[in-house]
Amino acid sequence: MTRMLERRGVLFVLSSPSGAGKSTMARRLLGAEPDMRVSVSATTRPPRKGEAHGREYYFETQDGFDRLIADDALIEWAHVFDHRYGTPQAPVEAALAAGQDMLFDVDWQGTRALKGKLGPDVVSIFLLPPSLEELERRLRGRGTDSEEVIERRMARASHEISHYDSYDYVFVNDDFDVCFEDVQKVVDGERLRASRRGAALEAFVKAMERQDD
Ligand code: GDP
Ligand code: ADP
Repeated sequence: MTRMLERRGVLFVLSSPSGAGKSTMARRLLGAEPDMRVSVSATTRPPRKGEAHGREYYFETQDGFDRLIADDALIEWAHVFDHRYGTPQAPVEAALAAGQDMLFDVDWQGTRALKGKLGPDVVSIFLLPPSLEELERRLRGRGTDSEEVIERRMARASHEISHYDSYDYVFVNDDFDVCFEDVQKVVDGERLRASRRGAALEAFVKAMERQDD
């Protein structure tokens, strides 16, 4: 029955301290879920090696980012590590209207803002590292950041972790495959909530009652 009833799109938010594995998780999830679309944020951070404009981020100048804010084009934005990051509004509205699921990689500030604006359409998942030592190992192992940047990301990790309790789901990303399975269970379960099929269910039940008359 669930298959034939239309539902609203779900906005899945994935957060973690930098280096705990949310980009890897997002890539794996998008590979497994061809119908899920990723929200590409705008940022003033310079691109890392291998990152492309419009794929990982829309890389903006300070002026370009100011314009996005002035045009009300961002649903939320925040300062993270000296740079600004923001979520473009238009794709979110289009996804909700089309019953399309979306995936967001935003920090706790962005999660709170999205929850505040979009309520139960937002499902938030937080990934914890197994330990701070392992977090540092992963940041170093990634090989994308300078020593100074790694130290600043580590310094911010405890702050980010302290917001774990505002998330709907919290998983320890120790064995990646185990964690991925848990994330997939959340995705499957949240899609099945009756409240996401509210209008279609109501029509279904009404039609059933008419048949009974
Ligand atoms: P990484 O997390 O180490 O890969 O570093 P990034 O520079 O890609 O991201 C830094 C932080 O910014 C992460 O915590 C992201 O979740 C967060 N972030 C990315 N895009 C957005 C956004 O649009 N809004 C907000 N609030 N945070 C964002
Ligand atoms: P984030 O997006 O949270 O900053 P990444 O996804 O870039 O983190 O992961 C940081 C590094 O840790 C990458 O090199 C990634 O391959 C590695 N990694 C991610 N998850 C795991 C895991 N469960 N076990 C070991 N290494 C991991």
